[in-house]
Amino acid sequence: MTFTVAIIGRPNVGKSTLFNRLVGQKIAIVDDTPGVTRDRRPGEARIGDLYFTIIDTAGLEDADPETLEGRMRAQTEMAIEEADVSMFLIDARVGVTPVDEHFAELLRRVGKPVVLVANKAEGKVGESGVLEAYSLGLGEPVAISAEHGEGMADLFAALLPFEREEDELSDEEDDFDAPLPIDPETGEEMEAPLDLNRPIKVAIVGRPNAGKSTLINTMLGEDRLLVGPEAGITRDSISVDWTWNERRIKLFDTAGMRKKSRVIEHKLERLSVGDSLRAIRFAEVVVLMLDVTIPFEKQDLQIADLVAREGRALVIAFNKWDLVEDRQAKMAELREMAERLLPQVRGVPLVPLSGLTGAGIDKLMSELLKVYATWNRRIPTAALNRWLASVLEHHPPPAVSGRRVKLRYMTQPKARPPTFVAFCSRPEALPDAYTRYLLNGIRETFKLAAVPLRLQLRKGE
Ligand code: GDP
Ligand code: GDP
Repeated sequence: MTFTVAIIGRPNVGKSTLFNRLVGQKIAIVDDTPGVTRDRRPGEARIGDLYFTIIDTAGLEDADPETLEGRMRAQTEMAIEEADVSMFLIDARVGVTPVDEHFAELLRRVGKPVVLVANKAEGKVGESGVLEAYSLGLGEPVAISAEHGEGMADLFAALLPFEREEDELSDEEDDFDAPLPIDPETGEEMEAPLDLNRPIKVAIVGRPNAGKSTLINTMLGEDRLLVGPEAGITRDSISVDWTWNERRIKLFDTAGMRKKSRVIEHKLERLSVGDSLRAIRFAEVVVLMLDVTIPFEKQDLQIADLVAREGRALVIAFNKWDLVEDRQAKMAELREMAERLLPQVRGVPLVPLSGLTGAGIDKLMSELLKVYATWNRRIPTAALNRWLASVLEHHPPPAVSGRRVKLRYMTQPKARPPTFVAFCSRPEALPDAYTRYLLNGIRETFKLAAVPLRLQLRKGE
């Protein structure tokens, strides 16, 4: 759950002040006992409900001046190594100094994540220093005042992506999202383009006999390429590489799809649920395949619900479309059923196809790429808060037991699926209806149709 943060920076930028603010006086006093080395003091820090371990590198200026540089360097490097992320402080009132540049260079070389912090930014005096900080090439600086406790919500947002969840899925490299790139013109974050080289992990799930193996075989044709077992996935399941319009796709393939065993019906059903869950966890986009002659059976609905709960992007395919006579009427009927039976995935693409003939596969893939792109989007903080400001102006949260619930700030620390955090004076008091209203607003304003969205409420100071 917890992660480790190193506070890095030259003497006098405010490292101890920030450390004391985040850790609280008590621990700092204990560690200040004479004779105790202060080189790298670890402390349990907290901002709102985000908890982490913090390593302070302050106090090094008291060291023997002759070896100061060497010691500072060694200690700093050790702290950076130990930590998941470094908070690199500069003094916004002084601006960027050559020593700051030296530290920035060191941090870049180590190559671990850095949150750039411009401290002492209260009032107007710090403004130019905050802008200067961009020149360090370490992304957007978080402007704070450690002494006055300002900017803590921004610091929270910058550190939040480093919080790990114990039950994080096998999404290897996806523990957190990198900061968004900065637009050099405006100094604001901008949306990052989608990485087109990265293969898209796709699972095709559905009840037995929906036609999954048939579709996969049609997709792969003669080009079928079997690759070895994937790390983290059990032996009997593998992924198959495929390319569609120059996009790399990793198709999750289960043993059940490759060779059908003659087992009795109920056993097949059970197998399929386990397979589905594993496939969903593997996937970024899930194709739920329904047999159009018997659509929306109980198990289909369960799988759709599972996909939504696991936060994956979803496309629903109606297979065996070649058997349908009045296609227009059928599609209208299916749309109505989807709306009624699956409100939790409203707006997901519904694609008719035939795995047997291959008709509809192109449509399936283009819809799949669209939801994948949406699922990966990160909305820049500034745009989000401009939107929030207009919402608060026209439709603020209602008063609960006579007191207004205040919303202050919003950020999207993660994509896949898009996950938003809102800071709120009383998170527990904000009505669910209002949370849904916010999410619907985000969905419409930023065009995030058809993917699950998450909104976390955090208590803001
Ligand atoms: P360190 O050497 O990096 O640990 O820096 P300190 O925490 O000892 O702070 C150095 C000086 O800067 C002290 O006089 C602090 O009171 C002052 N300071 C720290 N944070 C702030 C701030 O946010 N605003 C202002 N104006 N002064 C600060
Ligand atoms: P799975 O259990 O989901 O992998 O389903 P299969 O791919 O084994 O297909 C089950 C049955 O449905 C087989 O008899 C297939 O021939 C048939 N089938 C699969 N796709 C289609 C299709 O698009 N149209 C028609 N008419 N039959 C299909």
